[in-house]
Amino acid sequence: MIKIKYPDVLLDSLENGHMIIDDAFNVSYWNRWLCINTQVPKEEIIGKSLEEFFPEINYTVLQRKIKTALTIGTPTFYDANSSRRFIPIERNKVTTSSLKLMQQQVTISPYIVHENKVMISIYDISELFEAKLLIKKEMEKAHKLNEKLEADKEIIDKNIMVMKTSAHGVIKDISSFFCDFFEVTKRELLGKNVSIFKLSDMSDIIYRDLWETIKNKKLWNGELQYRTSKGQEKWFQARVVPILNIHGEIVEFSAVFHDITKEKLLAELYITDPLTKLYNRAHFDETINFIAKHQRKAEVDFILAIVDIDFFKRINDTYGHQVGDDALVCVSKNIKKSLRENDLVARWGGEEFVIMLKNVTLDEAQKIMEKVRSNIEQNIVCHNIKVTASFGLTKYRENEEPKETFKRVDDALYEAKEGGRNRIVVK
Ligand code: GH3
Ligand code: MG
Ligand code: MG
Repeated sequence: MIKIKYPDVLLDSLENGHMIIDDAFNVSYWNRWLCINTQVPKEEIIGKSLEEFFPEINYTVLQRKIKTALTIGTPTFYDANSSRRFIPIERNKVTTSSLKLMQQQVTISPYIVHENKVMISIYDISELFEAKLLIKKEMEKAHKLNEKLEADKEIIDKNIMVMKTSAHGVIKDISSFFCDFFEVTKRELLGKNVSIFKLSDMSDIIYRDLWETIKNKKLWNGELQYRTSKGQEKWFQARVVPILNIHGEIVEFSAVFHDITKEKLLAELYITDPLTKLYNRAHFDETINFIAKHQRKAEVDFILAIVDIDFFKRINDTYGHQVGDDALVCVSKNIKKSLRENDLVARWGGEEFVIMLKNVTLDEAQKIMEKVRSNIEQNIVCHNIKVTASFGLTKYRENEEPKETFKRVDDALYEAKEGGRNRIVVK
């Protein structure tokens, strides 16, 4: 009958190394895992000293560890780190790390104490070690990235206007650049509502559009006008982004501003008549052409009027050019005063003005122009001087070129002049 030694069979079946040695390092048991991994068979090593086979082990340390295990009676570790391995076992696994030798955890447990025998167990912890290496590498990368982010954050803070608010618009964070620009301190702004920047006359439509867009969790891109603490009005290109949490709820808003005041002023100059501050001819032309082009889709009606001051040359000749200029400014104001905010008025050139009225009938337009005409007639422009003006009026006809509309209105004006001036002719 074959006598099976159960502990031996048991240890042979384990995927770790197990050996039994005494304090003189003589081997009395060597399991299957060790046979395979060290390529030293049981028959060769049992009864011999470990030292003969593995001289690289630090036997001074090992002896001390064996003594500790035997005297204390509990397992102890042999520190087999990468620089001081226990039994060198080559790895035949292809891995991303360059780990050639198996990383081991070595435990020394008391076995038969009165024979000074201990069991040494070797566990392969190479994969754990590799994972640790990988984590370390990732940590280093994350650290570097973090350092870069910190540096970037400083660059952003000092050079870009950024603001973070709560979902209700309370300022949570603001860049130094923003504060410098508005000449306020961070402390003054934190905790306040963004509405403190809102100009009382800031178009409510823009403001409503902004809030509706971002509350619907969409990005808002647009132009805003704000006033600095010193009362200067500034224009900004703003980009407001809602930040959502994992449940899709708005947690905060993040906004980036770019000062476009100069561009705005330039753009305004580009479309403004310097003397009267009305729009100039270029802007009027552009607007009419735009509307005419889109008219079919928008179904917008518009009326075109042209106003020409009567006998204006006489004013210049009699009172001088400066008085003529004052009269032009005064007539411009009178025209604007009689119209609605959305009506477009421009100086066409010299002492002529053009007006575009939207969504009114020709009859209504005629009544409005009559008001303008009588306003000019009744008001003293300056130095007790009064002027009158003649008007041409026409409706833009569907699908016609704007120049045809202009031709018709010009003819109407000519007729008004011919007919004795200070009157309106509709064509
Ligand atoms: P009518 O009733 O036929 O329109 O007579 P008018 O004198 O107004 O017409 P005309 O076209 O002969 O003269 C226009 C004058 O407007 C000529 C020009 O000296 C004057 N004018 C044009 N631009 C300016 C300006 O910017 N400032 C001043 N002061 N006068 C201007
Ligand atoms: Mg003229
Ligand atoms: Mg004239």
